[in-house]
Amino acid sequence: MIKANDPSLSSWVEVPSNSDFPIQNIPFGIFKTEQLSPRVGSRIGDYVIDLKSLFVLGYLKNLPFQISDFDTPALNSLMKHGKKATSDLRNRLSKLFSNDNNDLKNNEHHVSQVLIDVTEVEMLMPVQVGDYTDFYSSRDHATNVGTMFRDPNNALLPNWLWIPVGYHGRASSIVPSGTPIHRPKGQQKPAEDADPIFGPCKLLDFELEMAFVTFDGKPLGDSISTQEAKDYIFGMCIMNDWSARDIQKWEYVPLGPFLAKSFASSISPWIVTMDALEPFSIEGPKQEPEVLPYLKYEGNHHYDIHLEVGILPEKAEETVVCVSNYKHMYWNMAQQLAHHSVNGCNIRCGDMMASGTISGPTPSSFGSMLEISWRGTKPVAMKDGSERKFIQDHDTVVMRGHCEKNGVRIGFGEVETKVLPAKD
Ligand code: MN
Repeated sequence: MIKANDPSLSSWVEVPSNSDFPIQNIPFGIFKTEQLSPRVGSRIGDYVIDLKSLFVLGYLKNLPFQISDFDTPALNSLMKHGKKATSDLRNRLSKLFSNDNNDLKNNEHHVSQVLIDVTEVEMLMPVQVGDYTDFYSSRDHATNVGTMFRDPNNALLPNWLWIPVGYHGRASSIVPSGTPIHRPKGQQKPAEDADPIFGPCKLLDFELEMAFVTFDGKPLGDSISTQEAKDYIFGMCIMNDWSARDIQKWEYVPLGPFLAKSFASSISPWIVTMDALEPFSIEGPKQEPEVLPYLKYEGNHHYDIHLEVGILPEKAEETVVCVSNYKHMYWNMAQQLAHHSVNGCNIRCGDMMASGTISGPTPSSFGSMLEISWRGTKPVAMKDGSERKFIQDHDTVVMRGHCEKNGVRIGFGEVETKVLPAKD
């Protein structure tokens, strides 16, 4: 077992019950405050840990890091050190903040420099994302979409059970939680019109997804096997992969998603490491037909992560519209990474790969409004008496995720995004 995952560990920093950030989590992110420039942080309970200060004060000795790995507005330099170094760093932080360790605990002056109340902190983009890939790996989601738009009897396209289908997305428009987005504009082709029209998207939607970020991969031409995949994945966050359904419908043939997807994707700001998620790994679904040899895998690569989505209208209460779980994925991250690199495509440090919309088997677990409202035919009743088919201006969409087992709860916090009207 990874030392830092021990359920019996507790911290000298107070952790509220139901916190996503007990000592067994130790995620990584980028923060700033009014006084402090953007830098690397971790988190316990309601405190952010300033890793630059910890380094300067000498608590991160005998690890392969330099001050420039912490005094930087992205996790990339830290991640450049790879799996072992970042695992060792997490274990060191766990040790420093454990109840039975007095090194930092007893130095009040140092503690006040290192721990910052989370209310004083602004969380920023954790990673400078080079390339963003979006998969389509939930069978229930692909089946729902195929049923709606094609043929209920042949909902899955012939390649779906053979290939972890994906496309190259847009990295520049990935934004952290708290960044508002504007309703996108674009071409739409109403069924009753002969020609397309131009204007603000009318069918704005969220997609509930999880994303993972990678360490440096192998050189161009080499492939990463499912067996090796875990060594190349740093950690995960929640992603709201915004979609403009009406723009998507008109533009996607024959080359797939483009402007309907590239205007924004929002992520939760803490990267929870694969080490921290290890206790929550589970067996995946039986894959039938049997997959090709390069997609076969051993061990557990699926994860039990509880997920939920809420819509918060302006000046009203939040309504939870989806309760789901990452365990509903058909294709896992090891298969996605193996498939992505099987042609020799080089994966780089800071690449982000998303799951595709995560839908479960029941309507209450569908991961997009497209499915929840079944193309707008089943409006959702909101707590304030209004209803939603898609997302309206001034709505805030909130996604949360956490794992729980053996009395330990570790989570991702949330990604919340307010939708502003289209720009003139
Ligand atoms: Mn997506």
